[in-house]
Amino acid sequence: MRRFGLIGSPLTHSFSERYFADRFAREHISDCRYDNYQIEDLGDQGALLRAALPSDIQGFNVTIPHKQTIIPLLASIEAEAESVGAVNCVKVTSQGCYRGYNTDVYGFEGALLGMLGPANRPEAMVLGTGGAAKAVCHVLTKLGMSYISVSRTPASDAALSYEALTPAVLQQHRLIVNTTPRGMYPHTDASPLLPYDSIGQGHYLFDLIYNPAETLFLKQGRRRGAVVKNGLEMLILQAERSWDIWNETL
Ligand code: NAP
Repeated sequence: MRRFGLIGSPLTHSFSERYFADRFAREHISDCRYDNYQIEDLGDQGALLRAALPSDIQGFNVTIPHKQTIIPLLASIEAEAESVGAVNCVKVTSQGCYRGYNTDVYGFEGALLGMLGPANRPEAMVLGTGGAAKAVCHVLTKLGMSYISVSRTPASDAALSYEALTPAVLQQHRLIVNTTPRGMYPHTDASPLLPYDSIGQGHYLFDLIYNPAETLFLKQGRRRGAVVKNGLEMLILQAERSWDIWNETL
């Protein structure tokens, strides 16, 4: 049996275990399984992580809160993941070493280009400054798109507070990407604190959340004429890229 999985905490929101179970069943892949491994603390030497995983695991995804804290525990890291500063996919090499990748970058880039089309590159606003925001900002830079970050506690002049989001700021930044967990199940009645009346036709709202399928953030944008997209395509693209990485010979 080839074993794969997901580490993080909490894992109740994750679709990955079901996604891979369905994929293996659909394609009659009977020698693979993908399981959730709830891990609160990785420790600083890697022993806790190795103890929590089956000794024969061949690869795993990494989610909240470990995408950055896993980096010192890796034997090597792929260049793009290093530049992002976050890892969401680990391949166990044939020598048993952990190599880190960032497939959120691949997933977000594909899903974003699907929403914007080939030549449309509006100025962007990225809500939140965590691990997923790093992947999003990396893609925007790669695509030559300018952006501002929005944080509850802006640490530099490069970020704005939610209180600073005037109608003029919203009108200037027509792509708004939510990388915060606000609105994620079960807190579906919450949404990022924006002046939604300044959003309308010509805006693009991308929510990394995929559960619920339509968050209150997306609903408020769609009602006002914005183009909206949830995080499901990104999730599927990053999962498929992880699968390809685990099946590459290394
Ligand atoms: P994270 O590292 O915990 O970062 C989230 C950021 O959001 C925080 O750094 C914080 O930034 C802000 N934030 C946290 N709680 C907030 C709140 N209650 N209100 C407003 N802002 C808040 O998490 P992450 O790994 O980046 O993941 C973020 C979200 O993206 C999750 O919902 C996750 O499921 C989703 N995600 C989806 C995919 C996909 O494939 N679709 C991939 C990755 C992540 P400030 O402190 O600066 O405000």
